[in-house]
Amino acid sequence: LLIPLGAGMSVILIGLVVWISRQHLSPQGALQLAIKRKAFVTHYQPIIELATGQCAGAEALVRWRQPDGSFVPPDMFIPLAERTGLIEPLTDLVIQRVVDDLASMLRREPSMHVAINIAACDMQSGRFLPVLSRALRGAGVAPTQVWLEATESGFMDVNAARATIDQARQAGHAIAIDDFGTGYSSLSLLQTLPLDALKIDKSFVDAIGTQAATSIVVPHIISMAHGLRFRIVAEGVETAAQEAYLREAGVQFVQGWLYSKALPLEAFLAFYKARNQRRTAPPPDTE
Ligand code: C2E
Ligand code: MG
Ligand code: MG
Ligand code: MG
Repeated sequence: LLIPLGAGMSVILIGLVVWISRQHLSPQGALQLAIKRKAFVTHYQPIIELATGQCAGAEALVRWRQPDGSFVPPDMFIPLAERTGLIEPLTDLVIQRVVDDLASMLRREPSMHVAINIAACDMQSGRFLPVLSRALRGAGVAPTQVWLEATESGFMDVNAARATIDQARQAGHAIAIDDFGTGYSSLSLLQTLPLDALKIDKSFVDAIGTQAATSIVVPHIISMAHGLRFRIVAEGVETAAQEAYLREAGVQFVQGWLYSKALPLEAFLAFYKARNQRRTAPPPDTE
C-alpha cells in the first residue's frame, strides 16, 4: 500500500491510521466526525496570467486538519468521501469556507477570483449549485468571482453535465475541465459542452521537453483548446523551461510550484499583493 506513495505521504498516511485507530473509528467514521466538527481548511494556490505576470486568483484546495496541527491532503480522503456519500456534506463545507474566505479577500482585493473543485458526482447532480448561490448571496459575493472545475468523469453523462453547466454559467460562473487528458473523455465531449477553460494535467506539463510520448500530445491539446476557444490553464509548472514553452504555445494561465504552493489565506493574500503591485507599476514617464 505504501510503495506508490512518496515518503511524506506515507508518514501522513501512517499518522492518520494511528490517529483513527486511537479513536476506535473506521476511516469513514473519522471522516464523518471531521465533517461534523468542520475540521477542514482550504489553502489557495495562485493562478498566474502569463501575459501580465499577475495573479488572477487562486484554486481552493481542501485539507483535513489533524489534532496535532498537520494537514491530510485531499487525495487521501476525497475518494473515500466519494465512495461513502460523505462528499455531499464535504462539498457544502468547502463551499461555505471558500465563500467566507473570498468575501474577506474581496474587501482587500476587489478583482479576486477563486476556483472550487467540484467532485464528479456533484457535477453530475448539480446539487451543489443552490448551496453555492445561497452562500454567495449571504456573503454578498458576485458569482462571477467563483470559477468551478471538475475532472473529466464529472462530464461523462453529457446531458446531466450540460444541465449543471448551463445553470452555473447562467449564474455567472466559468467552468473548467480539470486534469484534462488523464481520464476517458472523448473529443466530442469537449465539442458539445459549453465549457470555458481546460486545465492541462501536470503529467503533460512534466513531459514538456522530454522524449516521453505525452510530450507529443501537449501541442495537440493546446491547439485543440485554442480551436474550441477555451482558456487554458497549465497545472504543475515547476521549471522556467516549462513556462517558456507554455508561453510560446499561447497558454494563458499557469499554476505550479514555480510560482507558489497552495498557501493559507493570509499568506496567499500577501503573495497576491506583492505579485500584482510589482507588475501594475505604470510605465516610466518618457517625456
Ligand atoms: P487538482 O484539482 O488537479 O489540484 C492540483 C493538485 O496539484 C493539488 O494537489 C496541488 O497542490 C498540486 N500541485 C500544484 N502545483 C504543483 C506542482 O508544481 N508540483 C506538484 N508536485 N504538485 C502541484 P492537492 O492539493 O493535494 O489536491 C489533489 C486533488 O484533490 C486535486 O487535484 C483535486 O482533484 C482534489 N481536491 C482538492 N480540493 C478539493 C475540494 O475541495 N473538493 C474536491 N471534490 N476535490 C478536491
Ligand atoms: Mg483542480
Ligand atoms: Mg488538476
Ligand atoms: Mg488532480
